[in-house]
This record gives sequence, structure tokens and C-alpha cells, in this order.
Amino acid sequence: MSIINGNQFIERIDQLGTKVWYHGQEIKGKLSEHSAFKGLMRSQAKLYDLQADPTKQALMTWTSETSGNPVGTSYLPPRTTEDLEKRRLAIQEWAKESLGMLGRSPDYMNTTIMALGTSADILSEESPRHSENMQNYYEFVRENDLSLTHTFILPQVNRSQFYIEDPQEMIAAQIIGETDEGVIVHGARLLATQGATTDELLVFPSGARLPHMKTAEPMAYAFAIPNNTPGLKFYCRDSFVGGESHFDHPLSSRFEEMDTIVVFDHVLVPWERVFLHGNINVNNRLYHDSGFFSQTTHLIASKNVVKIESFLGIMKAIIETINIGEYQHVHEKISEVIVGLEAMKGFIHSSEKSAKVNQWGVLTPDPNPLQAAVFYYSKFYPRMAEIIQLLGASGLVSTPTEADFNSSGGDDLRHYLKTSTVNGEEKVRLFRLAWDASISSFGGRQQLYERFFFGDPVRLASILYKQYQTDAFEERIRSFINDND
Ligand SMILES: Cc1cc2nc3c(=O)[nH]c(=O)nc-3n(C[C@H](O)[C@H](O)[C@H](O)COP(=O)(O)OP(=O)(O)OC[C@H]3O[C@@H](n4cnc5c(N)ncnc54)[C@H](O)[C@@H]3O)c2cc1C
Repeated sequence: MSIINGNQFIERIDQLGTKVWYHGQEIKGKLSEHSAFKGLMRSQAKLYDLQADPTKQALMTWTSETSGNPVGTSYLPPRTTEDLEKRRLAIQEWAKESLGMLGRSPDYMNTTIMALGTSADILSEESPRHSENMQNYYEFVRENDLSLTHTFILPQVNRSQFYIEDPQEMIAAQIIGETDEGVIVHGARLLATQGATTDELLVFPSGARLPHMKTAEPMAYAFAIPNNTPGLKFYCRDSFVGGESHFDHPLSSRFEEMDTIVVFDHVLVPWERVFLHGNINVNNRLYHDSGFFSQTTHLIASKNVVKIESFLGIMKAIIETINIGEYQHVHEKISEVIVGLEAMKGFIHSSEKSAKVNQWGVLTPDPNPLQAAVFYYSKFYPRMAEIIQLLGASGLVSTPTEADFNSSGGDDLRHYLKTSTVNGEEKVRLFRLAWDASISSFGGRQQLYERFFFGDPVRLASILYKQYQTDAFEERIRSFINDND
């Protein structure tokens, strides 16, 4: 097996029979025919088709060292700056298909699993078997072009640092037992975006450092299982698909990525899928030493360049459509977004320029500019949504539907909503896109996503604060103030 196409993706997910709960019921039919998932699955299938397109092979694939088959570029362990650039361009090629709105397109986890697979050595501190399992899993996922969802955090029961869960009412998933076949996991985890529409689930500890205590050990675990593993359930939130019409709901009809709560009901995880089992030291080294942060944030920043470009495109189209380009505050707002775009490109460039080859021969982008990029973007993205609102004003809600334009009132609407450049229908088509990007429930979730998907921005800021080397600057100031010359 090697890269798959869109149909193979859809068939595989439909046949899986994952236990997905939506609006109080377990979904029985094909997910690709369900209103909450079909738009997303079609969009994701297009990504696989693009990857399989013979004219895109040079960019979107590389030759697997083990099978000799073409595999996705997002699985590529970069060895050279050319590799890093190729991966960035491949990610952006996919991101353009969704205007950057798919946060969890398959490349996200493909790159994650590459980072963890190539550095699997870290896991051998606990057991060589775990390291082998991780390497095998990376190969298995890559060679079968599997799509993964993931859950890295625990339920929001009590976030006090002093909270210890009452063992009598277990909520956060834990390993509760072992058999000859594997470990038994019971409890819940958050938050598997695309939990319903992927092949497998990767479970890793949260990025937080765990204390070296017996009570922390049950939280230090990592494994991967197919989404249809017995006892595994995915509970969906409400769907934000506004409807099927691309005119009415240009983004949510295509790119609504369902978030799910994952419940493990005495789930058996086979030993060959266990990567970590209680070792706090390994838990605490995992993300930093593996290059996970650098590789995934490089992917995220690359995707974000496309997303900012898309927002810039929407803003400029609004400005042209209602002819507000002469006003200085409009220039200032657009300049703000241009600065954001150039900053994002600069963060990536800097991370690639000072990338270093790690001990496993993988070229790892410099984490500093990328941590800065993630922190910056969590604040910049809501500002872009705000700028769309400030430019679009009432146009964002003067938005009759496709049915209205197809009705007897259509001519009225085409006439009375026209602008000096386009007819009313064309104007509404654009403004509905702007609304879906900035105001709709889809747009609101996108803002929440960009603030939190990679972790709490407050705690990310603390990591940056603690890791960034400022000794030389402090020293410069001390010698300046002590210099009486
Ligand atoms: C749309 C969306 C999609 C997501 N998709 C995924 C996914 O696919 N997979 C996945 O694993 N996760 C996913 N996440 C979860 C994401 O990783 C978390 O939202 C993030 O790590 C923050 O954790 P939390 O939501 O539990 O917030 P909490 O940790 O509960 O934080 C809530 C508030 O309390 C504050 N707070 C809590 N603890 C501390 C502390 N120790 N120090 C300072 N302040 C604190 C926070 O600053 C924040 O203001 C997603 C989140 C969103 C919103």
C-alpha cells in the first residue's frame, strides 16, 4: 500500500464502523452520507486526490526508504533544507484547498507521527519495546496513508494544581489493568477533532510536566489504536454545518471539523501499540527532545501563511466591492494584516535558516521563532476576524440565501443589493464567505481553535519566557549601568 486517493479514504472511514454519538444517538449509516460529516469528508477526499494527482507527485510525495513506494510528503523526515522547504510547500498546497480552514487536515498528524517515530529512541529509556512500537507505528501509518485524530488533554474537571482525582469516580482516562494481550484503559480524554472521520486515535500525555510521584504515573502513558476498537466511543458536539449550500455556507458546508469527547470503556490496547507506560522522566522529555514542537509548529506556521493570505483576499475583495479603498483607516487595517503575513513568513524563514540536525539525523527547525509564531497568531487571528467585521459592517448580515435569489424576489435582491462593481447576488456570495470566516458558529469555533488548539496560550507564553535565552541582553545592560567611563 502507499498513498491513497479520495475514494479510498471515504470507503475506509465508512467501513470502519467507529462508535460515534451525535445528538443522543449512535450513528448507524455511512459517515460520508451524514449531514455533519459529508462536506468535511468530501473536502478531505479532495486532498488525497490532489496528493495522488500524477502532476503533483514530485511535491506531494517522496519515495519510502522501506517499501520504495511513494508516500505523503507530510511524513517526510527532513534531512536537508530542501526537504524542509518541500514539506512547507506541500503543506501549503493542501492548505490552499481549504483557504487554511482545515486545522486538522491529515498532514498535521502525519508530521507529528514522523517527529515521534524518528525520535522513538527516547522511549527506550523505559523499554526498548516501546521504542520499537513507535517506529513500527510511524512506518505503518506512513505506508498505509492512515488519517489520525489525537487526544492530548484530560477533562476539565478541576484545573487547580493541587487537584488529585478521586479514584472512586474516575473521569480522566487511566491505565487500570494489564493482561497478556495489553493494557486496559478506562475513562475519558479530550478533545479529538475529527475523531469520527479518521482511521486511528493517537493518545499522548498532555505537554505538562508531571511531578515525580506515584500518583502521576497513571497519567504518563501513550498509545495508538484504531477508532473502531471495542469500548471506544466518540461523543460529538453540535454540528456547525449551517447547511449544504456552498452559496449559503461556503466554509461550514465544506470544512466543519467536528470535535469529539473520547470515552474509553475498558479498552484493550495491545502491547505492540503501547509507547509509554508510567515513566515520568520519559513523559517529561518527550515533546521537547523529540523535535515534536519544532516540526508541528513549522507545519502550523506554514498553514497559517495560507490562512492569512485568504483573509487578506477576503478583505481586499470587500474593499473593492463596496469601494472603501480611499479611507486611511482601511489602509491601516490592511497593513496590519500584511505585517502579520510578513511576520509569519519571517518566523518560518528564521526557523528554517537556523534549523539543526538532531541526534537522529532529522533537520529540526529552530523552536524559538516558531513558538513566537504560535503565540503571536493566537492573538492575531481574532484580530483578523474583527477587521473583517469592521470592514464589512451591515453587509455581513445583509445576506439573503441562495433560495431567496432563486425565488420571485431574486431580481429585487440582485438590484437592491448591487454595488458599483457587482450585482447583488455576487456581493452576497462574497459577504456570506466573509460572515462564515468571522461571525458564524463555524467562524467562532475557528477563533477558539486558533487560540487554543496547540495549548493554552498563557502556558505557552510561560514556556517561551522560561526557555528563551536572555542572559546576554541582561549582561549588556548590567555592564552599561556599571560603566562609569
Ligand atoms: C477548537 C479546538 C480544537 C481542539 N482540538 C484538539 C485536538 O484535536 N486534540 C487535542 O488533544 N486537543 C485539542 N484541543 C484542546 C487544546 O489542546 C486545549 O484547549 C488547550 O490545551 C487548553 O486546555 P483546556 O481547553 O483544557 O483549557 P484549560 O487548561 O482548562 O484552561 C482554561 C482556563 O484556565 C487557565 N488555566 C488552567 N490551568 C492553568 C495553569 N496551570 N496555569 C495558568 N492558567 C491556567 C487557562 O489559561 C484558561 O484561561 C482543541 C481545543 C479547541 C478549542
